[in-house]
Amino acid sequence: MSNFRKSPALADFRRIVVKVGSSLLVDSAAGKLRHEWLSSLAEDIAKLHKDKCDVLVVSSGAIALGRAVLKLPPGPLKLEDSQAAAAVGQIALARTWSETLSAHDMTAGQVLVTLGDTEERRRYLNARSTLGKLLEWRCVPVINENDTVATSEIRYGDNDRLAARVATMASADLLVLLSDIDGLYDKPPTDGGNAKLVPLVERITPEIEAMAGISGSELSRGGMVTKIEAGKIATTAGTHMVIASGRVPHPLQAIAKGAPCTWFLTPANPVTARKKWIAGSLEPRGTLIIDAGAVAALKRGKSLLPAGVIRVDGAFGRGDAVLIRGPDSAEIGRGLVAYDAEDAAKIIGKSSSDVLLILGIEGRSEMVHRDDLVMSGD
Ligand code: GLU
Repeated sequence: MSNFRKSPALADFRRIVVKVGSSLLVDSAAGKLRHEWLSSLAEDIAKLHKDKCDVLVVSSGAIALGRAVLKLPPGPLKLEDSQAAAAVGQIALARTWSETLSAHDMTAGQVLVTLGDTEERRRYLNARSTLGKLLEWRCVPVINENDTVATSEIRYGDNDRLAARVATMASADLLVLLSDIDGLYDKPPTDGGNAKLVPLVERITPEIEAMAGISGSELSRGGMVTKIEAGKIATTAGTHMVIASGRVPHPLQAIAKGAPCTWFLTPANPVTARKKWIAGSLEPRGTLIIDAGAVAALKRGKSLLPAGVIRVDGAFGRGDAVLIRGPDSAEIGRGLVAYDAEDAAKIIGKSSSDVLLILGIEGRSEMVHRDDLVMSGD
């Protein structure tokens, strides 16, 4: 997949995050959910799911649906009003997703996150392992921001960037943003009428950002600006992104059949891009000294197990970045550690099955999983 510089095919992906905007889900004039459209989307998701693709949904619509149910007057809402509206809307939204996915033989699992869950490394790891477990069970996580508790300074406010963070967190290889617009135009489409759709963005340059313009839709917070922000988050971390219209039935099949849309490609190979992100954006908090056998295993692409660690230095927490050094202190790589320094010190040299006995909890058996590991010189 690393060599295409043309639009990729949907069938190429093994883990897809689909973000659905509020205006697609909620018919605000009629004050209700667009069940028929949602069912067509669920059918598309079921098709991917059957073909062994993991699918995660990031669904907006809690506030929009809540205000429809409560018959709140149109216009901007105060923060406490949107929080309370979201409480009413989210419960209905979750029920609808659960019923609609189950009608297509899939099991939904609701995950509500706040900014801190995706930005603080420890909480990030927790949220990530929950998503991982749901996917292992072949469930479809349905994710939204926890709008009822997220206040202005600690909230995303738009699900475009949230979806990009979820895609990174779940190591997805594609993020699909379904909205009321079919992609990025070279100028705002309302401007004069001769705007052209950009089918492929290989890199988000200042020119691309300048094309973004401002949102025209009343219901969704995220206009093209937040979609471009999402594109930056996703592509830097190794996830491709596509913006496509959800104004049509079967919106995913439409993409597969070549409907107009805008693809944002991650540079080079997605795995390399994610590893670059780990290497570049995190400050190491400690060091793991490992034995020669573990050095050899890591070089063969294996994860670092507690048994191969000789010494632990530093006061790091679970999910922090650590340096990994060989017995001669040479740097081997860096990665995100699955245990805090205290627990790590207790289990070094031990077999994975002893970890449960020593810590009394069933942690993950790797000290640093290979997906979270970057070898020096990679
Ligand atoms: N989390 C908000 C909701 O569910 C949506 C934010 C957005 O429109 O992107 O109502």
